[in-house]
Amino acid sequence: MVNTCQSCESCEGGHENYCSKIIFTYNSHDRDGTVTYGGYSDMVVVNERFVIRFPDGMPLDRGAPLLCAGITVYNPMKHHGLNEAGKHIGVVGLGGLGHVAVKFAKAFGMRVTVISTSPGKREEAMETLGADAFVVSGDANQMKAAKGTMDGIMNTASASMSMYAYLALLKPQGKMILLGLPEKPLQISAFSLVTGKSVS
Ligand SMILES: [Zn+2]
Repeated sequence: MVNTCQSCESCEGGHENYCSKIIFTYNSHDRDGTVTYGGYSDMVVVNERFVIRFPDGMPLDRGAPLLCAGITVYNPMKHHGLNEAGKHIGVVGLGGLGHVAVKFAKAFGMRVTVISTSPGKREEAMETLGADAFVVSGDANQMKAAKGTMDGIMNTASASMSMYAYLALLKPQGKMILLGLPEKPLQISAFSLVTGKSVS
């Protein structure tokens, strides 16, 4: 975003992305009536509230913003307390969001289990990204062994699926964070939430 109203409840609460007067970086009308063109621009005007200074001591070829994938994963991890060392987090799906989730979770000092439909992702998950464990979601024995062990799950899958099998992996009061946006309605049994588990 390049600007918001800066005075509504969302803006004052640090949730400017929910502001009804938000001006997006791309394809919004700015206050002067011009259209914002995001990365197609030669230059942009951004309110200082939404700019982060590149650290003086960091070489330009050593730092880069993590942009959408970064904030989509980092924000809910922080908001829901899924950033505490020693907690066990599951990451469903190892695409763009999933691999960032693994990297953040390891940087937070968490135990990380990647859950994937694809056995071929094991090497990338464990050896390249440093996950502690890998579970194939279609393997009933592996899913059973992981049951009730996780404080949280970052679910990045966009395919429509039953949530039951994943909710079973959570400890009581565990939280599943949905980052994927399946087109079809979710299937969630109320019984799978009765031990205080939540979906957000
Ligand atoms: Zn606002």
